[in-house]
Amino acid sequence: MKMKGETMKEIKNVVCPFCGTLCDDIVIILDDDGHIVGTRHACRIGNAKFMHFEGAVRYTEPLMRENKKDDFKKVDYDTAIEETARLLAESTLPLIYGFSATECHAHACGIELAELIGGIVSNTAEVCHGPSVWALQDVGYPICTLGEVKNRADVVIFWGSNPMHAHPRHMSRYSIFARGFFRERGREDRTLIVVDPRETDTAKLADIHLQVEPHKDYELVSAMRAVLKGFELQVDKVAGVPADLIYEAVEVCKNAQFGELFFGMGMTQSGCKHRNIDNAIQLVIDLNAYTKFGLMPMRGHYNVNGFNQVCTWITGFPLCVDFSRGYPRFNPGDTSITDILMRGEADVMLNIASDPGAHFPQKAVDYMAKIPLICIEPHNSATAEISNIILPPAIAGVETDGTAYRMDGVPVHLKKIMDPPDGVLPDREILERIIKKIREM
Ligand code: SF4
Repeated sequence: MKMKGETMKEIKNVVCPFCGTLCDDIVIILDDDGHIVGTRHACRIGNAKFMHFEGAVRYTEPLMRENKKDDFKKVDYDTAIEETARLLAESTLPLIYGFSATECHAHACGIELAELIGGIVSNTAEVCHGPSVWALQDVGYPICTLGEVKNRADVVIFWGSNPMHAHPRHMSRYSIFARGFFRERGREDRTLIVVDPRETDTAKLADIHLQVEPHKDYELVSAMRAVLKGFELQVDKVAGVPADLIYEAVEVCKNAQFGELFFGMGMTQSGCKHRNIDNAIQLVIDLNAYTKFGLMPMRGHYNVNGFNQVCTWITGFPLCVDFSRGYPRFNPGDTSITDILMRGEADVMLNIASDPGAHFPQKAVDYMAKIPLICIEPHNSATAEISNIILPPAIAGVETDGTAYRMDGVPVHLKKIMDPPDGVLPDREILERIIKKIREM
């Protein structure tokens, strides 16, 4: 007879499928029955992802209903996939959205499906770093790896981002506290500048805190660029920040050996949106006249970057891709799914690995609730609540393997830790079966 714990197993070097930091040093502890009972090295959010990935309500069988007021009925995958294929194939303008919490093979299948049915495909970057991606599409950006930041950066800026809470191991693994090849003393070898209207926990650690007024990021970047180019500020404050502090911050950046500007949604979603990022890219280009400086978006979902990468290889565009004319078109505002829903133009929507019901503007959610909605989703969510069909997938990075792109664009292999519930398919397989069924039709 085996003693309890006798066959306890550890899996090392697991990648955490939660945030864009994609920590790859997690240890997962499994009990005798193969259940996860603990983790090592993960932050509290990462630990919760592994310990509670099944959630309060985990779907293990497909559900369907014709009318959204009816109760769901359990069906098999064949029935749910056939009905999904029929709805998509008969639709005039289908939308395919989400993808940020699944692996890259599923992204490729989703884009193939959109092309097949002449639909519009996009990911959750629309409501987070979309403006960054549009700016990068326009002008490119000077990026480096997080490894280079760890080994070289002596000046780090966090602009509109609070990694202490949103990316808890970013600072200890890569950017601030990490001891690098040329930064042996870690924090003591680095100057931290934080730009944030609030005194966040990250700002409390800063050497210089530029407390910019909300929505005035563009003005502050412009003032920094002016100072960098040798102009004198004719006012005491710009965007609420004292001129002296702007001069000091610019001087620190100019004299850096290697600087990195990390920016978050506080910059992308404040007034001027992608123009803020255009301007920040220009600031970094200007700084490169003096020293080596890079810039990197603090991507949130663990594979939101992956979709933008895969979509760009396949279509030439990172998101908001419209295949309705038979070729890919990219015109955010016109081809963005949020806007299409708010204009009431689509007639079917497939959502995968995201929860737009909880994050889209109310007008868009109201419209989603009116049209046939298919949700490839493991858990009960706001979107699942207003769906007609729920197809439960295996959870990528826990129950199935795959590839994800870290915030710096480095692809990382996600491990499979355990089997999914009986019969539950990976996202990619569900999409492949929908594609096959549409081709048969
Ligand atoms: S920092 Fe992000 S990737 Fe790393 S363990 Fe925490 S949630 Fe997971």
